[in-house]
Amino acid sequence: MKTEKTTTRREFLGGVAALGALGLTGHPGFAWGQESARKGSRPASKLPARGEFVIRNAYVMTMDSATGDLPGADVHVKHGDIVEVGKELRAPGAQVIDGRGMIVLPGFVETHWHMWNTLLRSMSGDKREHGYFPTAASLGKVFAPEDMYQGTRLAAAEALNCGITFVHDWCHNIRGAEYAEADLRALRETGIRGRFSYGAPQGHPATETIDLADLERLHRDWKSHSNEELLALGLAWRGAFTDPKTMIPTDAARKEFDAARRLGMPISVHVSNARARAGQIGVLAKESFLGKDVQLIHAIWVTPDEIRSVAAAGSPVTFSPYTELRIGFGFPATGEFLAAGITIGLSVDTTALSGNADMFAIMKAIQNVENAKSENEFKLPARRVLELATIEGARSMGVDDRVGSLKPGKRADLIMVNTREVNLGVFSEPAHMLVEAAQPSNVDTVMVDGRILKRRGRLTAIDVEQTVGEASAALAAVRKRAGWW
Ligand SMILES: [Zn+2]
Repeated sequence: MKTEKTTTRREFLGGVAALGALGLTGHPGFAWGQESARKGSRPASKLPARGEFVIRNAYVMTMDSATGDLPGADVHVKHGDIVEVGKELRAPGAQVIDGRGMIVLPGFVETHWHMWNTLLRSMSGDKREHGYFPTAASLGKVFAPEDMYQGTRLAAAEALNCGITFVHDWCHNIRGAEYAEADLRALRETGIRGRFSYGAPQGHPATETIDLADLERLHRDWKSHSNEELLALGLAWRGAFTDPKTMIPTDAARKEFDAARRLGMPISVHVSNARARAGQIGVLAKESFLGKDVQLIHAIWVTPDEIRSVAAAGSPVTFSPYTELRIGFGFPATGEFLAAGITIGLSVDTTALSGNADMFAIMKAIQNVENAKSENEFKLPARRVLELATIEGARSMGVDDRVGSLKPGKRADLIMVNTREVNLGVFSEPAHMLVEAAQPSNVDTVMVDGRILKRRGRLTAIDVEQTVGEASAALAAVRKRAGWW
């Protein structure tokens, strides 16, 4: 591998020109950011146009089982589509991106994340009354729509910086129509792909449904929110149980579930995340609450019978190892579900517990926990974990026809990882390097739907100082309103 110094002047200037075309002429800075938060924010990003690019001479991991890895290969992207993947592609007129020293792979697919919680990063405290659930509930209740916007925008910026190109925004604090609107605005402005799942506000009585009329309205008007179909709408279902002991589904739960099914919306639910909630999957199966359209979150305390019923129904599962470990839910049952042929995605869940949204670390935790549990060095190979973070995650979200692998005809969601950094040299076994050694700082370039949103290690369209400054001001105001010190 040649060094970065061999970057040609033409290629370098090409990169600079691209940034110029994005309108990146400095940033207003931190002071402006705080001022803006008081007045109401303005977008911290302006999305670049989808261009025509060819990434040359990269180590391309297509994550497509038929194609596999292609060393020294090119990826040609035009107007958001992957045109071709292969060696020495003809792409006259395309802007050339030097791929030497880079691993190119599909962007990571994140599958369950309370993005608004990013305003509460690392705020789950050390006493029961300051644990994750009371903290999110107490502060969530005093959130204004603008705070939802600030938390989700910061989360989306972090996602893109880490190489996550798809998020499942599990929005469980919709206190009125304007809350969903604000959250969606943040997703749209950042240009990320994802599913927005509509959820109950914090503190909502379990016996009352969410505002189903508002959910229907959003569904009806979805075209105006979808950002040219980058975003889809789902239901963040609270689940069937008010009392984990009796486990009798409430009328409200049934109404919400039926409404989502009637509207053709995918459903997602937290389940069996503690010993006291064991048996929930069995009840969901009995009550016909499972299916390909119903994603199960955590699913840690499960029996072999329950796993069989999940497999039979086709429900995908998502694990968020850092929150599951940090809060003491238990260990992800990755091996058991994979052995049953169940589709698994990986997730952040909440940075109030996990601290960050590092998908490299999530992959590493999933592998290490599984190998430790099974006392087997070879139980969960790195490449399999990488599949969970890309193509299988996409399958679990029902978007594998569009993203999750690098294949002609799919949309161009991809990342470039710089292997010349000190924690990644030397180039050895790429799947192992990504799962065991790589960090978000190694993500050189991120493309979503053909738009370059990170280049040479910097976000191109998001003003980070403004985003962090405004979020900090929003959190200070939230804490004040809640009397939370
Ligand atoms: Zn969750």
